[in-house]
Amino acid sequence: MADVILRNISKRFGAIEAVRELSLAVNDGDFLVLLGPSGAGKTTTLRLITGLEQPDSGSVMINGRDVTLDPPGSRDIAFVFQQYSLYPHLTVYDNLAFPLRSPARRVPEPVIRKRVEQTAELLHIASKLNNRATRLSGGEMQRVAIGRALVRDPSIYLMDEPLSSLDAKLRAELRLELKRIQLELGATVLYVTHDQVEAMTMATRIGVIRDGRLLQIGTPREIYENPTDSYVASRLGTPQINLLPARVLSEIALPAGTETVGVRTEHLQLAARNGGPLVGRVHRVEHLGEQNHVHLDYKGQMLVTLADPREALQAGQEIELHLMHPLYFDGAGQRIPAAT
Ligand code: ATP
Repeated sequence: MADVILRNISKRFGAIEAVRELSLAVNDGDFLVLLGPSGAGKTTTLRLITGLEQPDSGSVMINGRDVTLDPPGSRDIAFVFQQYSLYPHLTVYDNLAFPLRSPARRVPEPVIRKRVEQTAELLHIASKLNNRATRLSGGEMQRVAIGRALVRDPSIYLMDEPLSSLDAKLRAELRLELKRIQLELGATVLYVTHDQVEAMTMATRIGVIRDGRLLQIGTPREIYENPTDSYVASRLGTPQINLLPARVLSEIALPAGTETVGVRTEHLQLAARNGGPLVGRVHRVEHLGEQNHVHLDYKGQMLVTLADPREALQAGQEIELHLMHPLYFDGAGQRIPAAT
């Protein structure tokens, strides 16, 4: 059974349509990542699930119950925000215990102690339980913030860019840990980010969202290999997929209606000139250590591909291009199936 189901929810703020007829199901044990740029409607979607906002239309179901009109506190949800939102004057222990100490819950103190200690172990902050929250590093603070959600054992965790305020090294570390914890607990997570690496590495499924609409949902691999439109294709992959106007590819056969051809960097292959139809010129080679990024000029279009650092390529050199696994898109950016 799905833990959370959104059916056709829409939400406006004055003239802004923040969320448009969005439907999705977060299944038990899912790590569903909503990936989209700033202003896409990601936070609003989470707030609609928590009840902090109410939809103009559509419904929210949690564990089979329609909670669309229920107040926020009554939903069995834990929320982790981008900012740490800790109580600075309390110790790590008391910050973690806080969600269990509400009078309505009446959790006995020994049970609280056990939950807090288990959670601290899981997050590798057991040695910090007696520290005040303000005496922690950024990464430790964010672990405590995540821990405050974990102690409650809710039916779903909603996370709004919980790693975005951390530096790159900590982000990479906590990414791995969050995923490990989710797998260990079998937790159901709906996670919002604009970071494609987080989406690709942590998600069981990715939903790509833009202008309040869900464009595509699927496993990271499905979304990467089979994007349904050019925007989705360009959201995943570093460097970004090459998108070429069909007019510069008149030498090769394209399906009818093709306006844009997408070729992932790893599928743009270079070869010595041998009479093939597409010849480009090396513009610049960037050395990244384990691989090179080769920027090419093809009829005034800039393309990028990956190359082995041992391959000797010189700026200005002419080279043959081979487009493997091309993706075809129409004028509206919609994918056109390759002719079989
Ligand atoms: P970010 O990654 O920047 O947090 P987001 O994808 O989470 O972006 P939302 O915060 O959901 O986007 O905002 C979606 C749109 O709705 C934006 O245009 C935003 O300005 C608008 N919006 C959100 N909340 C309100 C509000 N309370 N009043 C007015 N407009 C709002």
